[in-house]
Order: sequence, then C-alpha cells, then structure tokens
Amino acid sequence: MSRIDDLPPLRAVIAEHQLSARKSLGQNFLLDLNLTAKIARQAGDLSACDVLEIGPGPGGLTRGLLSEGARKILAVEKDARCMPALEQIAAAYPGQLEIINGDALEVDPLAHLNPPIRIAANLPYNIGTELLVRWLTPNDWPPFWQSLTLMFQREVAERIVAQPGSKAYGRLAILAQWRCEARIVMSLPPEAFTPPPKVSSAVVLLTALTEPRFPADAETLSKLVAAAFNQRRKMLRAALKGFAPDIEDHLIAAGLKPTDRAEQIPLEGFCALARSIKA
Ligand code: SAM
Repeated sequence: MSRIDDLPPLRAVIAEHQLSARKSLGQNFLLDLNLTAKIARQAGDLSACDVLEIGPGPGGLTRGLLSEGARKILAVEKDARCMPALEQIAAAYPGQLEIINGDALEVDPLAHLNPPIRIAANLPYNIGTELLVRWLTPNDWPPFWQSLTLMFQREVAERIVAQPGSKAYGRLAILAQWRCEARIVMSLPPEAFTPPPKVSSAVVLLTALTEPRFPADAETLSKLVAAAFNQRRKMLRAALKGFAPDIEDHLIAAGLKPTDRAEQIPLEGFCALARSIKA
C-alpha cells in the first residue's frame, strides 16, 4: 500500500516557500516522512475512508496519510503561506486532496467529505482541546467520524486516557472514555519537531463506540463534569451545590457519597448522577 512520493523533501519545501514556524499558529512541524507515515498507520486502513486533517502545515502528515492510501483528504490550514506546498501535494495525488485555507473551527467537514470519515492531525496546541471537546460532545452518537488519531502535548494525552484517582483524571477523560476507546499509541520527544517544542508529545487514538458505555444525556453529563472538576478538591456536595438544588439526594440516588471528591468517581458514577439530575 505505502509508496514513497516523488515530491521534494520537506526541508526543501519549507526553504522554498519560506515557511518559518509561527508560534502564534502553534507551528511545530514534522519533517521526517517515515515518522509521518508511522503516525498515519495508527489510523488503520484508510483506503475506504475520507480523512479530515486539521493544520497540515507544509504537508508532512498529509503526505503520510496519502502514501498510506487515504481515499480522500480534506486539509484545513489557517496559514495562507502553506497553500503552494499543499497544492503541490494535491497535484501529485489528483482528486485525493482538497485544501481549505481557513479556520478549522469554522469549517463544516460534512460539506466536503463522505462517510466513513476518520480524523487525523498534529493539532495546533491552542485549539486542540477545543476541537477535541467538540468532536466528543455531539448530542447524537455515533458521531460523523469513526476515529480520531491526534497528536497532543503529552500532558493533554495523559488527561484523555486518565483513570479515576489520578491527578490527570477530569473532564477530558470522562468525555473521551464515555463514548470512545481511548489509548496512547505513540510517544514523541521534542526533537521530532521543527522547531522543537518545550514538552514531549503523544498520539492518541480514539475510536468511537457504537453506544455510550453507560446511558446519560450528553449535555447534562458534560456540564456536570465541568462543574465537578472545576473545584476538584472539594467534596461533591459542595462542588455541585449550585448545579442542582437537591444535589445530596441525587448523589445518594446515584450510589455516591456526598463527601466523595470528583477525582474518585468512576465514569459509571458520573453517568448515574447525570441520569438522576436529568430525570
Ligand atoms: N501537520 C503539520 C505537521 O505535522 O508538520 C503541522 C502541525 S502544526 C503543530 C499545527 C498547524 O495547524 C500549523 O500548520 C498551523 O498553521 C495550523 N493551524 C493553527 N491554527 C489553525 C486553525 N484555527 N485552523 C486550521 N489550522 C490551524
């Protein structure tokens, strides 16, 4: 399946188009095409899938996804300087790469892609969490995507896969694990990027489950965990006092102790509490 493309090396592309990295756009580029192909492989067999890529930059991961056989890619990049480099890739893979010069927060991918759809990205750190939360919190499930293969700062990746009782456990873990299988599939040191960021990174693979693990209303659960972890050191009866007037009754109805703290409560407990409050 994999074939090396005939395009110039990424360092030459960056030099030709003068793509000096901009911190304000979260630009830390991956220039090793073996590495980008390895990241693309974490997304599984893409030959029958359309792929949404956010922030392709000079196109390292885009080339990895195409060389791994992606049926079609929609690449959304805010930085207009990257367009010529991306158009060169599109010309090498006719009909397989659509490029939008725009803000990923404002693009409707369903106007451009056909299911099944997978999302793969080395996300800009400044909008990474916001995009993830959007993808994880539609009211209807399953979502428009089958899986997310996403590069994050290591610390964010650990929050996504965290278990109860750990410092990293919080809203992201609950939203991710409620309706997805979530695991870290690769770790990358700062030197893998140009320029190197201050911290290590990791690729998280989130695969949408067909059904949530436990029943709950998405909006209630999302607001509930936001409130509970906003004051994570407080007992739940205090942290959630403003959330529902009779919160102690709901905690007991959900099988929880009012004196418990949010970081001790497993996913199942939050879902039971969301059901009681919604009812
Ligand atoms: N995918 C490339 C790679 O792996 O080398 C670049 C990754 S870099 C971490 C993040 C990319 O997201 C940059 O190219 C940046 O310009 C782009 N970006 C930043 N904010 C964006 C936004 N709101 N919408 C779309 N792209 C954005």
